[in-house]
Amino acid sequence: MNEAPPAASAEPETSGAVGTDDKPIHILWINAGLSCDGDSVALTAAMQPSIEEIALGGLPGLPKIAVHWPLIDFECGPVGGADTFIEWFFKGERGEIDPFVLVIEGSVPNEAIKKEGYWCGFGDNPETGQPITTSEWIDRLAPKALAVVAIGTCATYGGIHAMAGNPTGAMGVPDYLGWDWKSKAGIPIVCVPGCPIQPDNFAETLTYLLYQAAGSAPMIPLDDKLRPTWLFGATVHEGCDRAGYYEQGQFALSYDSPQCLVKIGCWGPVVKCNVPKRGWMNGIGGCPNVGGICIACTMPGFPDKFMPFMDEPPGAKLSTTASGAYGGVVRKLRTMTTRTVDKEPKWRHTGRKLTTGYRPPW
Ligand code: SF4
Ligand code: SF4
Repeated sequence: MNEAPPAASAEPETSGAVGTDDKPIHILWINAGLSCDGDSVALTAAMQPSIEEIALGGLPGLPKIAVHWPLIDFECGPVGGADTFIEWFFKGERGEIDPFVLVIEGSVPNEAIKKEGYWCGFGDNPETGQPITTSEWIDRLAPKALAVVAIGTCATYGGIHAMAGNPTGAMGVPDYLGWDWKSKAGIPIVCVPGCPIQPDNFAETLTYLLYQAAGSAPMIPLDDKLRPTWLFGATVHEGCDRAGYYEQGQFALSYDSPQCLVKIGCWGPVVKCNVPKRGWMNGIGGCPNVGGICIACTMPGFPDKFMPFMDEPPGAKLSTTASGAYGGVVRKLRTMTTRTVDKEPKWRHTGRKLTTGYRPPW
């Protein structure tokens, strides 16, 4: 189980509250950073709550929202037409749909490192017919947003596109806007990493922000990497189904084993992620639980600091040797205990004699 989201503290801070009148809170979703759209796809599997529950107002006290998300939006007309998807983003820039939450998916390439062309864009500028770059949209919209949310490891910390040797100078949203950046409502950038995100982690974070906007929740608690603390406070190892094997010094050397995967490359002991606890969809799955090593996809140092994948992580040799020696002793003692507790107590028997140790008080 995840820790429950924190209850309102004794001194509730309700920055960002915009009330619950009939005005919807718009969600402007830019999925045009460098990404595979995997976070959008993953989110369709959210259950706690589901996207339908958020978008259709199925949760009590949740403000009305209007979602402008390329993955599900049916508005697909040309610029200037009756059903122009991109028009909502121009409205956001003009201040016509205040308040809105800006969601950014994908890493932000550095458009300043070249003389011509562009790395990625989102819609065209009606005046020039040229694409509007993703970073220009962030420049236009972030100052007007109630909150900026980076979804997925690309948008939060740069991810795969920001690997050593990449040509785009890609970075995460906090690198682009500044780690101390705050929205006009005083909310820091909210980062929900994952490659892709665990769907419920994002749905829950968005829901939290909407309750905060309605004045029903205190300031979202974030750690120093701008992650919601209640979701990213524990390591993969702390929630892994195989942690008992680690503690007993039993390590898999191939993938067909139920034992701990650290010797074949699992980084779980040092990675902040709740996926083994939460599962992937509806509580099912969760990398090491189902046989996949943790490759640390939620971490700011991903992927460079965790490569090559499938090698024993540094430090694992020492810790598994210690755990192996200590775990071997513990295992022997446990085997003896298991033999004892795996049998019924001897006083459960037929016959005329009571051997339970009962002593009548008279
Ligand atoms: S498989 Fe990974 S996360 Fe699970 S117990 Fe082993 S090292 Fe820890
Ligand atoms: S368990 Fe590891 S590989 Fe799996 S989602 Fe979490 S950080 Fe990524």
